Amino acid sequence: MLEATIVCDANYDGTFFYAVKTTGIFCRPSCKSKAPKFENIVFFESANDALSSGFRPCKRCRPNLQTEDYDSQKEIVEIAVNIIHQYYDEKLHLKDLAYKVGVSPFYLNRIFRTKTGITPHMYIEKMRIHKSMTLLSTTSLTSIEIAYMVGYETLSSFYKAFKRVTNSSPKEYRLNNRK
Ligand SMILES: [Zn+2]
Repeated sequence: MLEATIVCDANYDGTFFYAVKTTGIFCRPSCKSKAPKFENIVFFESANDALSSGFRPCKRCRPNLQTEDYDSQKEIVEIAVNIIHQYYDEKLHLKDLAYKVGVSPFYLNRIFRTKTGITPHMYIEKMRIHKSMTLLSTTSLTSIEIAYMVGYETLSSFYKAFKRVTNSSPKEYRLNNRK
């Protein structure tokens, strides 16, 4: 349990809860709050046990909500989607995204795919390409300017992604969709 707590292993969510004596707060194993000192941790089998021992639920992982009401994976994916909408035009690799969300890249990739059907990488790509489509049809910015604006580090990665999503090149797209 200590190990699961330290590495924030979401697979143990619902199987136990941990509380921290010094803060009076209890959490799910997956909670990204700072790893507490071992001597300050108390483990509980249920959220009710922790509550009745006087601990308050953490605001971040909301351990007092029932697992069936509280879909932590859904919430994590929602947080990830919000972050993507905010940062898609910056360098945003899976590990950066996972770091911002506060989960491991592997875990984020897995649950994101389960909930949305696509990986975070594909989601970011779609966002960037949709933005670039708008820019291509409504501005006279060059492809390279647009590539950088929507978060690509090279023109070739932009071209490849554009082709994957739209099946045409940026140039073709602009010719056919000029506004
Ligand atoms: Zn927590």
